[in-house]
Amino acid sequence: MALKFYNTLTREKENFLPINSKEVRMYSCGPTVYDYPHIGNYRAYIFADTLKRVLLYEGFKVKHIMNLTDIDDKTILNSQKEGKTLKKFTEFYTKEFFKDIKVLNILNPKKFTKATDYVDEMVDIIKKLMKNGLAYKSTDNSIYFDIKKFKNYGKLSHLVLEQQKENASGRIKTDEYEKDNIQDFALWKAWDEKDGEVFWKTKLGKGRPGWHIECSAMSMANLGEQIDIHTGGVDNIFPHHENEIAQSEGATGKQFVKYWMHNEWVLVDQKKMAKSYHNFYTLKDIIDRGIDPISYRFWLLMANYRTRVNFVWEALEGSKIALKRLYKLYIELGEKVGKVDVNYQQKFKEYLEDDLDTPRALSLLWDIIKDENVSPSDKKATVLDFDKVFGLGFENLKKEKIPKEIIKLAEEREEARKNKNFKKSDELRDKINNLGYDIKDEENGYKINLK
Ligand SMILES: [Zn+2]
Repeated sequence: MALKFYNTLTREKENFLPINSKEVRMYSCGPTVYDYPHIGNYRAYIFADTLKRVLLYEGFKVKHIMNLTDIDDKTILNSQKEGKTLKKFTEFYTKEFFKDIKVLNILNPKKFTKATDYVDEMVDIIKKLMKNGLAYKSTDNSIYFDIKKFKNYGKLSHLVLEQQKENASGRIKTDEYEKDNIQDFALWKAWDEKDGEVFWKTKLGKGRPGWHIECSAMSMANLGEQIDIHTGGVDNIFPHHENEIAQSEGATGKQFVKYWMHNEWVLVDQKKMAKSYHNFYTLKDIIDRGIDPISYRFWLLMANYRTRVNFVWEALEGSKIALKRLYKLYIELGEKVGKVDVNYQQKFKEYLEDDLDTPRALSLLWDIIKDENVSPSDKKATVLDFDKVFGLGFENLKKEKIPKEIIKLAEEREEARKNKNFKKSDELRDKINNLGYDIKDEENGYKINLK
């Protein structure tokens, strides 16, 4: 079977054929480093990571770039509130983000690009757009993209164009806006008092870039004018990605991205998790509840990336227990690593090649562990192989040593059993159980396991 992905551009599952067969070029919209991301934001990065892992598993080389938005309306506002320079303010949240992606077992992209390092490149694109007649300067010296002049405007979000464009009178200067607000958008924002110390002096005048141009510039600078895959959350489709297409294709005349891939929302009480709704959780909330964040990754993999998931603590607790059980079964397979089971591997690939069907791929983990026709060492090799995609950390699991106090209790119990003192032996069993261990009697003694 061929690798197939759902492309937002065509609204169809398509065979994946990279522009250059040697290397897949992939860009992911990363975080705006103005606050701690919430776990809904992390779905986008876990999705991009899973996609990359599947590509690597399928034998592709992948050049992956993720940006850090360290300049936009929100960042400026929050840095001013805290009385910090933009650099100092964003550095703090960048470090926190790096810690989070580590605990979520997200592979580092080839490069994290900071928007503030690419202002020159943004200026160059804006100049090209002006030359091509697609951008204009307004009376306050800000520069806007003229959406009526770009014939493909709306092709990604499938806006009903002519009608929308008719309504699209006026301009919008804010970085984020809704579909009802479709208007010419800001490429370059002339300095005003609200920006304070945040500005660049460039050929376009004193000011700062709009948010959308940042990703066009970083993607083109690092991956070239045309790339294979661009990822982000569905929220990014309009206006952010629609605007990225307009800017990039307006400047180069070439198709910017071949496959646009978007993950769905995480909901809370059937409402989108968002800072503005005050219904969000962070990774710290998960850790404070005694749950390893990797359980969140596991929980997300149980759903297809294109379906909305409703976050409830009970579900996350459930995934924590299920993952713990998988870990335990894996440890019990012993030390020896055999061969990957090809039948299971074939199914695994088939599921993932079908637009990343992680729920079905995950079910194979349970199936193989329970399969009596596969040897423990081959099971172990297969689980480790699958985990290259899941990233659940099986390779780091070590057989846990049974503490001495538990062994002592087990010995005392064995003694009591020999003396037919069953009351005492039952009491000791309870004690062992309460300490988190199971004890099983076998022909030649006993076996202790972590519960
Ligand atoms: Zn972006």
